[in-house]
Amino acid sequence: MSQCCKHTGTAALRCPLQNKGVAFTKEEREERGLSGLIPTAVSTDDQQVERMREILGRFEKPIDKALVLESLRATNERLYFQLLTRYTDEYMPIVYTPTVGETCQRFSHFFRYPRGLFLSLEHVGHVREVIERAPNQEVDVIVVTDGERILGLGDQGLNGMGIPVGKLALYTACAGIHPAKTLPVVLDVGTNREEYLNDPLYLGLRQQRCRGPEYDQLVDEFITEARRRWPGVLIQFEDFGNSNAFRLLSKYQDKVLCFNDDIQGTASVVVAGMYSAMRIKKEKIEDQRFLFFGAGEAACGIATLLADAIASEGVDPAEALKHCALFDSKGLVTAQRTDLAAHKKPFAHELADTKCFIEAIRQYKPTAIIGVAAQPKTFTKEVLEEMAKLNERPIIFALSNPTSRAECTAEEAYVATKGKALFASGSPFAPVEYEGKTFVPRQGNNSYVFPALGLGAVVSRSKWMPNEMFLVSAKKLAELVTEEDLAQGSLYPPLSDIRPVSVKVGAAVAAYAYDKGLAQNERPADLEKAVDEFMYRP
Ligand code: NAD
Repeated sequence: MSQCCKHTGTAALRCPLQNKGVAFTKEEREERGLSGLIPTAVSTDDQQVERMREILGRFEKPIDKALVLESLRATNERLYFQLLTRYTDEYMPIVYTPTVGETCQRFSHFFRYPRGLFLSLEHVGHVREVIERAPNQEVDVIVVTDGERILGLGDQGLNGMGIPVGKLALYTACAGIHPAKTLPVVLDVGTNREEYLNDPLYLGLRQQRCRGPEYDQLVDEFITEARRRWPGVLIQFEDFGNSNAFRLLSKYQDKVLCFNDDIQGTASVVVAGMYSAMRIKKEKIEDQRFLFFGAGEAACGIATLLADAIASEGVDPAEALKHCALFDSKGLVTAQRTDLAAHKKPFAHELADTKCFIEAIRQYKPTAIIGVAAQPKTFTKEVLEEMAKLNERPIIFALSNPTSRAECTAEEAYVATKGKALFASGSPFAPVEYEGKTFVPRQGNNSYVFPALGLGAVVSRSKWMPNEMFLVSAKKLAELVTEEDLAQGSLYPPLSDIRPVSVKVGAAVAAYAYDKGLAQNERPADLEKAVDEFMYRP
């Protein structure tokens, strides 16, 4: 189970990966010299899980539950993942969004257990030594952030470490990547958030964010040294600020096994939701027009993959781009604007300038609006009604996280469109009763795709991840949505099915790597079985 040797006595109880708590059997207690060090009776795994749930049940606030879970993980990782895999939909919002936002904001105040690597500017020129110090003998997946754009919460500096830790917990819970083979990394390059710089408990470098050659050297050394020690490791970029996110992705995308979840993983999940919406609307993806509220990593990643999806249906690629339009903090992104960053330019069309989103809707006539600007309550009643006026079944994706940043709630979307909206969100919303019908909105949660992408890439040892791989995972995920899901307005499978979903999506990703000659491992006879057997079961 653990990569280290079998411990005995208190050492076994203090090793989070080997500790089984009171679930050590009589034989194991004998063999490992544990008799008398733990209470007499042996608990089953089920009993340990229920005991833990009783403790968690005493806490009301999600952040308090998160603290309890973190302590559990630091002492008994097996039990932690038993809880997470059995009650994924209940604990995922604690371990990841929305609670992880608060976990990051309070990281320096609540810090107790170091996990992963804290690479700072002080390590430039010495990154190899730090990587050598990491206890992990093997690493399959690294999630790395520089903390500049954490969820919709902006610069969190070193506090952003909560994100790689949380995401990697989902790699294990959702797709069975062995916890000992995951490594969270934060690149501490300073922060521009004054409140942290003035906070005596802040644990990061006390300086403004570094940009330029020194930053690039830290990133480059990290990638080189990580791949030297763990060849074939998958590196996931997470929550970098806009300019670095696009730049680093294009620098490394076709050289090393890496991807950016905010850009590419998000795109895959959202495109899957659109394919599900097509099944309800009985229309084709190439018949749609997508207007994004926001023009950052999520918007441009999704728009690029949607254009790829439309082009894959035979539409001219230049024409396919016109099916997506962006609206940013300065208004509609149009051809005549001179202030556009490179990633927005493919979606700058011949449209009239406007700073009013409803105006943009009237002009562009979208079939879908996708909120990814982290600006709360921007899908107003008027916006939603306008979409319902233009479309029999308007597609409304309010994806901004955490919940406090959502463009609208599920209820607002269903009520304003008289139950016609095809809705998905970034944070979870409870089912909504409207005029005698129960709608079950589901999250366009990145966890449907990124852990499975990692799983497929690791099983096949893919050399890198072409964009088409993200379309493959989107199509596979959409196929797994049942007619019953669609009938209640759910555009995604239930999160409680995440493990079987990950097996199928992972197998599709691995199959793509084999078919395209990217895989470095030998192709197993039964790919789905091989993927399933690869998974860690706590
Ligand atoms: P980003 O910082 O790269 O982009 C934000 C964009 O919003 C920028 O283009 C900015 O110009 C625009 N914006 C800011 N204020 C605006 C305003 N008043 N009007 C119009 N546009 C405005 O961030 P991102 O990575 O694209 O993420 C955006 C949001 O989407 C976050 O809240 C994030 O949590 C969420 N998100 C959700 C999912 C998901 O649900 N699966 C996935 C990824 C991102």
